[in-house]
Amino acid sequence: MRLSEGMPVFSVGKATITRIEETYLPCYPLRDIFPDFSDAHLAKHKSWLAPHHYEAETGRIKLSVHSWLLQVGAKKILIDSCCGNNKVKPGRPFWNMLNVDYLGRLARAGARPEEIDLVMCTHLHHDHVGWNTRQKDGKWVPTFPNARYVFSKPDVDYFSKIDADPKAGPAELGTFRECVIPILEHGRADLVECGPYRLNDFIEIDSAPGHAPGHVFFKLESNGARAAFIGDVWHHLLQVYYPDWNFPKNSDAAQARVSRRKVLDYCAASGALVFPGHVGAPFAGRIEAAQDGYKANFPATGR
Ligand SMILES: [Zn+2]
Repeated sequence: MRLSEGMPVFSVGKATITRIEETYLPCYPLRDIFPDFSDAHLAKHKSWLAPHHYEAETGRIKLSVHSWLLQVGAKKILIDSCCGNNKVKPGRPFWNMLNVDYLGRLARAGARPEEIDLVMCTHLHHDHVGWNTRQKDGKWVPTFPNARYVFSKPDVDYFSKIDADPKAGPAELGTFRECVIPILEHGRADLVECGPYRLNDFIEIDSAPGHAPGHVFFKLESNGARAAFIGDVWHHLLQVYYPDWNFPKNSDAAQARVSRRKVLDYCAASGALVFPGHVGAPFAGRIEAAQDGYKANFPATGR
């Protein structure tokens, strides 16, 4: 990992992957999110939890919200598109009405909006679709006008149904209407089954349902090196050590646990560099098989 313009940049084969930050803040109380977390767990994992993954003074977990800009084979690919600016987020004060220079950061990383070839969402929750669109003349239009947007079809079907139901909608705090439907209406979306599905020379899409019904993860291979973009298969590194610990808000809690073990197995066996959606610094790392499960090898280097 190196820093460019203050942004972490990783290399995998011939691919370059830059973290585009939206926020990196203490969020929820750790013991609310993981009720099984005890003082014994704190003692065991103290060496790495604070300050990158846990704020000791407040007892809150630290979560990052970021995109991954993947540059490979002359393509510029944006993986997950965060919350977006000026969005009301009830119950999430740390992401409410953001005013972040996200597009400036993306440009400094080497991609102006018109240069993005592909936008790929691991799933369609509100914090993964935010920058898909922006407002122009009172309408939501694609932020990345030349991009194809890759969405999983089961997620589109699932959230369409919720959104169309006056009792349940609007889906995902209104972001399905603002950030997904306009992409469908502009004919910019490619809906894919959950896979395994080969997207191009470098990327295969594979299924990891449970947090959302159509949650997918992306496997990258370049020059014999591998990476995995896993979205919210785990939000926090504690879930690597305790794969049965779900983050709240799942379409199917049991399925989320099965998917987490599947992806952990893949990452440990392949040696892929792993790029989660919310894990704190150093934001990417590797998974190792351990005697009683898995171990996270995400060595922090500052911040
Ligand atoms: Zn998320």
